[in-house]
Amino acid sequence: MSHERRDRRLGIMGGTFDPVHLGHLVAAEAAREEYALERVLFVPTGSPPHKPDQTVTEAEHRLAMVLLATAGHPHFLVSRVEIDRPGPSYTVDTLRQLTATYLGWELYFITGADAVLELDTWKEPGEILRLCRLVVVGRPGYDQHRLREMVDRLRRDTGACINVLASPALAISSRELRRRAAQGRSLRYLVPREVEDYILKHCLYQRVAATS
Ligand code: ATP
Ligand code: MG
Repeated sequence: MSHERRDRRLGIMGGTFDPVHLGHLVAAEAAREEYALERVLFVPTGSPPHKPDQTVTEAEHRLAMVLLATAGHPHFLVSRVEIDRPGPSYTVDTLRQLTATYLGWELYFITGADAVLELDTWKEPGEILRLCRLVVVGRPGYDQHRLREMVDRLRRDTGACINVLASPALAISSRELRRRAAQGRSLRYLVPREVEDYILKHCLYQRVAATS
């Protein structure tokens, strides 16, 4: 399916979503509102290149949780592109694929501050910045000074369009949620209720590896 109009804006929220939590949803909603995004596409990673030595939960479980978390939002959609593409999930490949599908749309790639600080280690960062506008969402605990330096450097060196968005920054991480779940602690108000129920029903995160 392709879309031919020129003035439409697509947000893309990539992540491992193991599990999806309110930090992801708040970031996506803040970006949607600020940049008048017509849709925000959540793209769960198939095989995360930056987490190779960790045990990542089966893609279909992560996808199911993202579907549950976004079902009630009329502008949030979920894409299987990375899950269905074999090999490591590189953002640049996803952006190329979505550019071809969403012809004429402007792509806004939404990312947390921690992730963007690693941008130099991603595959073809220059091409990523050419294909989309980057929306950087604050996250508690990241180095604001380093972020500012990085954004300035990228703008200077590549002329990239990078927006740093002030949004309610929630100190929630999937890693911490996996730990909590493994300890039988509550996930209430950290993930949507449906996601909490799904985790319990499928006994996810009963054991958490020391590294994850
Ligand atoms: P993990 O602890 O397993 O790394 P995570 O909570 O960082 O999980 P990811 O799936 O790795 O979640 O993140 C997907 C995207 O969402 C990244 O761009 C990340 O920076 C961003 N993100 C994650 N949590 C938050 C948060 N609390 N606030 C803002 N952005 C977030
Ligand atoms: Mg992360």
